[in-house]
Amino acid sequence: MTVHIPTTSASIHSTSDPTYQTALSQYDRAVSFLRTLPQGKNISDGLIDFMKWPRRELSVNFPARMDDGTMRMFTGYRVHHNTVLGPSKGGIRYSAEVSQDEVRALAMWMTWKCALVSLPYGGAKGGVIVDPYAHSQAELESLTRRYASEIILLIGPNIDIPAPDMGTNSQTMAWIMDTYSMTVGYSVPAVVTGKPLNIGGSLGREEATGRGVIVCMLEALRQQGEARSPKDLTVVVQGFGNVGANAAERAYDLGFKVIAVSDISGGYYNSRGLNIAAMREYVASHPRKTLEGYRDADKITNAELLELPCDVLIPAAKEGQLTAENAPRVRAKLIVEGANGPTLPEADLIFNDRGITVVPDILANAGGVTVSYFEWVQGLQEFFWDEEEVYRRLERILVRAYDEVLHTMDLAPVDMRTAAQMTAINRVAQATITRGFYP
Ligand code: NAD
Repeated sequence: MTVHIPTTSASIHSTSDPTYQTALSQYDRAVSFLRTLPQGKNISDGLIDFMKWPRRELSVNFPARMDDGTMRMFTGYRVHHNTVLGPSKGGIRYSAEVSQDEVRALAMWMTWKCALVSLPYGGAKGGVIVDPYAHSQAELESLTRRYASEIILLIGPNIDIPAPDMGTNSQTMAWIMDTYSMTVGYSVPAVVTGKPLNIGGSLGREEATGRGVIVCMLEALRQQGEARSPKDLTVVVQGFGNVGANAAERAYDLGFKVIAVSDISGGYYNSRGLNIAAMREYVASHPRKTLEGYRDADKITNAELLELPCDVLIPAAKEGQLTAENAPRVRAKLIVEGANGPTLPEADLIFNDRGITVVPDILANAGGVTVSYFEWVQGLQEFFWDEEEVYRRLERILVRAYDEVLHTMDLAPVDMRTAAQMTAINRVAQATITRGFYP
């Protein structure tokens, strides 16, 4: 089928935002290889253009009450990138650096991530321009409830299901669930995932993204024929929030030597291995929830951390960390992306040339959305699983997706990121062709 869509994409796609530029250039690359394969031959130019565009976007400006009684204005977004495979799914980010283009990029990656692990979801993302660490709980609650009511047009258990991302957590999801439920007049746990357990959260969701990162790390080490035992393998983790701390702790529990971790306060290094459980306790007891002042390690910078010699580097903080500038000095043998978009396209090329495998974000951090899916299913059925079942199903889904990416790599001379995106984009493309374009 040929679909004629005027190529007016220039306005939205000529972005200066590096994260959106990364997402778009990865898409262009994946699509160009996909169309050389027999299974991609039926994908028209119009369909390629269609999958590149966000489907719908909402930008909201809204007030929230501050502790001193004043009102302050905030700006937020919610973007549905693609909804062909089902309702859209994606986190909500609170950060001073949020922008509409960044949200578009993250929504696009969610589409590919959900498709790659075969979840019945499209991709979405939301964000508010705010430094969450500069506000009290009461201020965050006021802001979250008003933001939720502003985007209520776009969310719902059958439309779009938010989850936590950078700067948000299970409490944020509880406020959104409550705001939505009070608006419709009855409790709707399935409107968000990543909720606290006592209001319908899933066992294992909090740990799921970090745990999934380690499932992928183990798979990559196995593929590489790594014969050393975990205690002889060194791991470095950038970011010590939900993803980074859970990945570090899982690696530590499995006996790997985690030699460095970092957060906004800097990097912490110990060549004999860090005590991750003690570091997590330290963060939990620290008022700003950071590692600032942690003593049982040498202090290094975040830049130094990325360049430490190690077997595995897990960037789990934010996008755009591995660049053309530092990629030549990275001394990890394997990179497993916990964060979304931590590697810029120029750095990808350098890692490919240097034979460093990068397990891409849409595969490596898909554990979060996978257990979010389990939470949604459990909420809709009001039937809850034990932790063992959650982890067993999670591992099965991630290992299967990993194998499918390897299979695509057998068909085309591409790196893992491109293969993962080709696999995912093809699923969305073929589903779109099957459904046909409305009207
Ligand atoms: P978070 O807010 O819980 O943690 C972020 C961590 O990164 C914090 O420790 C923060 O101090 C640290 N950090 C921020 N800037 C840094 C810098 N310049 N250098 C080093 N550390 C820095 O966020 P999160 O939920 O762990 O998300 C981290 C990344 O993982 C994001 O890219 C997010 O989109 C992605 N992700 C999150 C989930 C999830 O389930 N939470 C799922 C998939 C992907």
